[in-house]
Amino acid sequence: MALLLKNTTYVHWQSLEFKSCDILLEEGVAGRMIFDPDEAAVAEIQPEILDCKGSLVMKSFAIGHHHVYSALSRGMPAPSVKPSGFADMLKKVWWRLDKALDQDTIRASALFTAMECALNGSTFVIDHHASPNAVAGSLETIAAAFDEAGLSHLLCYEISDRDGKETAQKGLAETDDYLSHRQGLTGLHASFTVGDETLLNAVALAKKHNTGLHVHIAEDRFDQQDSMERYGMRVLHRFSAAGALSLKGSIFAHGIHLDESERQMLAASTVCVVQNPESNLKNNVGFLNPEGMGTDIMLGTDGMHSDMLRSAKTAFFAGQGYGHPDAGTIYTRFRKVHHYLETNGYKGDGENNLVAMDYNPPTVIGPSNFLSHFIFGMGSKHVLHVISNGKLIVRDRHILTLDRHEVTAFAREMAVRLWKNMEKF
Ligand SMILES: [Zn+2]
Repeated sequence: MALLLKNTTYVHWQSLEFKSCDILLEEGVAGRMIFDPDEAAVAEIQPEILDCKGSLVMKSFAIGHHHVYSALSRGMPAPSVKPSGFADMLKKVWWRLDKALDQDTIRASALFTAMECALNGSTFVIDHHASPNAVAGSLETIAAAFDEAGLSHLLCYEISDRDGKETAQKGLAETDDYLSHRQGLTGLHASFTVGDETLLNAVALAKKHNTGLHVHIAEDRFDQQDSMERYGMRVLHRFSAAGALSLKGSIFAHGIHLDESERQMLAASTVCVVQNPESNLKNNVGFLNPEGMGTDIMLGTDGMHSDMLRSAKTAFFAGQGYGHPDAGTIYTRFRKVHHYLETNGYKGDGENNLVAMDYNPPTVIGPSNFLSHFIFGMGSKHVLHVISNGKLIVRDRHILTLDRHEVTAFAREMAVRLWKNMEKF
């Protein structure tokens, strides 16, 4: 069904131009956005009507790097022995949690994440998933939950040798199976858990399906130390030698500990780096220094939350000590994901994906000061309506595609099971 947004103030996401208009939206991944449609045509189509008077309508948001698998970790008991650093925290917390996942706990994690993404204004999610004891079918479980919520997605399984060759093989098989019928990426955990054989197999798989890699790169210094000790070269040089930098549209998350030669390699490639500011601060691994990396930097949430406006604000404020980004630079990173998706031909982020923001500031807002409002005023609490592929999925801050109470109750029930399962690992 088509949707007509009446009395809209539309803000173009690239030019930041403001326009008073009505907008007709066609449903579907190829659906169009038509400004001030012909009245006779509207009468014939009989679209659903949504009055947007008083709100700002703009392109909805998209998340460059997320982890559905960590959704049920909130409030979980801390490990009995405090982790001594980043690698130890993976072992004591995250690798115990992802080993404890089964298809039901994955589904609960995916439904809750999808709901939070939608309520915070995102209609497209790029996720990086791990569940070593429930690999087969895990991506389809997440995809089905996102489809139910009405969100578009680009998923991958994080293939790794950390649990042995057999599990790595399962990750490759799950990726091969999923990519044969869905759009997605070839996921790898990180250099320090991926041996040469698995790396080459993953690159070959990405080539087979004409996709890129999605991998954590130099998140902590340890990733570089390990690569130098075991392979005699830095992480980017190792990935480049394996052919990973020339694949179509790879996503490298973090990229904090890179030297000049690695920055130059990134700048000369089509790789998109994802900055996850709050995760980096929380893990105390350092902060992105974008110098010499080129401009292909987007923002993610790294499973910390599903609020891209929050990620943008943190990137701006914490970034003042690292390259001093201005509001325009952060907005460009916030919106880079749309360029990435369009350039690489991924579906589900077309012009009929919109958010209406109930944002009424105490001062004038227009093209010349929009970026200042974006950083200092606009927040997810202003997300009023969300439209995904022309379909209204959030109306007046309520999700229409899922039962909020049911999804939350299911998540709570599954969290108890997940935390109990973690005791085994
Ligand atoms: Zn991550």
